[in-house]
Amino acid sequence: MQKDSLWQAVLGEIELSVSRGNYVTYFKNTRLLKYDAATATIGVPNVFLRGTLERKYAGLIRETLLKNGIAPTSLEFTVSSAPKSNRDKEEEADEVVFIPSVSAAPQTAGAPAPNQASPNQGGMTGMPRPASGPMSAPGSGMGGLSHSYRQGINERYTFDNFIVGSGNELAFAACQSIAQQPGRKYNPLFLYGGVGIGKTHLIQAVGNAVLAQNPRARVLYVTTEQFVQEFVDALRFRKTADFAAHYRTADVLIVDDVQFIAGKEKMQEEFFHTFNALHQANCQIILSSDKPPKEIPTLEDRLRSRFAWGMSIDMQIPDFETRCAIVQTKAQTHNVVLNNEVVEYLANSVTTNIRELEGALNQLLAFCEMRGLEPSLSIVSSVISAAKTRPKHLSAKQIIERTARHFQVPIEDMLGPKRDKDIVVPRQIAMYMLRSELHLSFPKIARELGRKDHTTAIHSVEKIEKESKLDADLRSTLSEIKERLYA
Ligand code: ADP
Ligand code: MG
Repeated sequence: MQKDSLWQAVLGEIELSVSRGNYVTYFKNTRLLKYDAATATIGVPNVFLRGTLERKYAGLIRETLLKNGIAPTSLEFTVSSAPKSNRDKEEEADEVVFIPSVSAAPQTAGAPAPNQASPNQGGMTGMPRPASGPMSAPGSGMGGLSHSYRQGINERYTFDNFIVGSGNELAFAACQSIAQQPGRKYNPLFLYGGVGIGKTHLIQAVGNAVLAQNPRARVLYVTTEQFVQEFVDALRFRKTADFAAHYRTADVLIVDDVQFIAGKEKMQEEFFHTFNALHQANCQIILSSDKPPKEIPTLEDRLRSRFAWGMSIDMQIPDFETRCAIVQTKAQTHNVVLNNEVVEYLANSVTTNIRELEGALNQLLAFCEMRGLEPSLSIVSSVISAAKTRPKHLSAKQIIERTARHFQVPIEDMLGPKRDKDIVVPRQIAMYMLRSELHLSFPKIARELGRKDHTTAIHSVEKIEKESKLDADLRSTLSEIKERLYA
């Protein structure tokens, strides 16, 4: 018991000194297994979290232990899964073999439609039309627009089960801060980025968090398609006043995939009024899109400028390390612990889309479960190549060559002693890529680039990691190189 309360105290302090996202991802599920004067042993859920804890947080843990009167000579991290409650298991039983189609259109592959979301939302099914698509027949029960708030929010999407890492950190932090004080900061929040990288998950998590604090909050999540369709229906059934009233009295309005409003003039006008009404009343507006406001074609200027009023955040696909943590964590929710090789294979094979990554994992788990096999490297490679997701095995050489070519510098210079800026930066980027894509050790990275000292590699990787958070140009350079690598 004593060690548990000691660890709670340590975690309490750590929680104050790291970002919420990092706390949830790295610390929340750790335990102090044992300690004496020589060693403190900390149990962590999986090897990827362990790696980061060892590298980044050992110092902080040590300091915090010391503040609490414990000064072990060394820290040890071991992988140990926390016992699961029966309730968790029951909840997961419904979800097991969900194999999303890789080729599904982005808007339909997003959040599960509300009527699939969870059976316990039966009391809130006042949807104006069946989920049969925009062209559902008239007379399909469309009587009015009575539907409740909270509808559309899927309880599955929470902050707790969102893994935070490079690529989504900033978006996570903004969403959390909005959930704590909706309408006060960042209004609107505009999240944009590629398909399947967690936009819907995060904006729904805001809705869930707001509702958890205040179950009576009027939280409204709607896909843009649904918004457009409801508006069309409202026009047809002369219910535009109801429609407007419904949307304009939300406390939090979440509109997903707002790029689909492009080219729909009447809709944009309606949206503009809704936006103004909500914004004036300090209600929180959250928007997602696959591109920034300025790149959405045929978006009225006045709406474009509204979208950019608050905060726009560019979300990126999480890096290799984070993808590994996602795979391992998701596997654990199915009560499966995968070995590193398998996790790394998956995280390497699917590099642009977390939904596809989940799909590949689910395919693997289903395959193994049906045949009573343990997931292994050979199974995962055959399952993945059968599924035609990209089984790409990059070599260090390919990464260095691709980076050199991108910057048009000779490969000999990358590997040689030159220290001019136009060589140093590409070299640092190549080091970063070796780390993020191949997960090589620092000494190995240094050797690949002809350096003797591995601290150069550490320094370079950290530098690029840090700068890429602040510098959108650098981020797009990185994703361009990656895209080519995996093309
Ligand atoms: P988008 O809206 O950007 O297309 P989604 O939010 O629908 O993407 O995410 C696709 C899937 O990937 C969802 O099942 C989501 O839960 C999962 N996912 C994405 N990012 C993460 C993450 N960082 N941690 C856990 N799951 C994630
Ligand atoms: Mg989405």
